[in-house]
Amino acid sequence: MSKIYHEHDRMWEKDKIKIIDCKTCGFIHLYPIPTKNDIEEFYKLSYFSEIKPFDYGTVTESYVEKKTEQVLQNSSYKYIYNKVINLLHRSCSSSFRMLDIGCGNDLLAKYFQIAGWETNVLEPNKDAAYYLSRFGISVCERFAEEIDEIGFKDLSFVNIQFVLEHIADPVSLLEKVHKAMAPGGLSVFVFPMILVTDN
Ligand SMILES: [Zn+2]
Repeated sequence: MSKIYHEHDRMWEKDKIKIIDCKTCGFIHLYPIPTKNDIEEFYKLSYFSEIKPFDYGTVTESYVEKKTEQVLQNSSYKYIYNKVINLLHRSCSSSFRMLDIGCGNDLLAKYFQIAGWETNVLEPNKDAAYYLSRFGISVCERFAEEIDEIGFKDLSFVNIQFVLEHIADPVSLLEKVHKAMAPGGLSVFVFPMILVTDN
């Protein structure tokens, strides 16, 4: 747990969870800041059952087949794929190697895999990792920050959507991602912007 005092005037509390508008950090964050163990437990075991519930019992062979068809028709996957291909052709000579970090149940990696890419996923939640593996996607049940311990290299495309806001040290993660990438490779980052008012 952080020993720094986080100065704040504004605080919100619900179900014993406190969030402060922190003058020390300049962020709005949980208080006290959760320990590494708290975070690991939460994302490994609870996140997809409590925050994003999904009935994993429904993932039968026919479900996988039907869902794979939907992946192929998915216009947002197609858009991202075409964008990546167009930009990569100009700048990256590396083989097509993609990593999706913290994708949960999302199947963008499957789209790239069907298109012939080498694909990997980092997903710490055991249920989501199982779901992805049912689609034949190679999954490391590890946290985003552990990317440097796995030995990925020459990645031509890294997808990080709605992950940075869950990370204690996002700058360090970006540095690690950069090291794992091929020269001229591409990354996509998506994160929420929250406007906070006094009301
Ligand atoms: Zn703070």
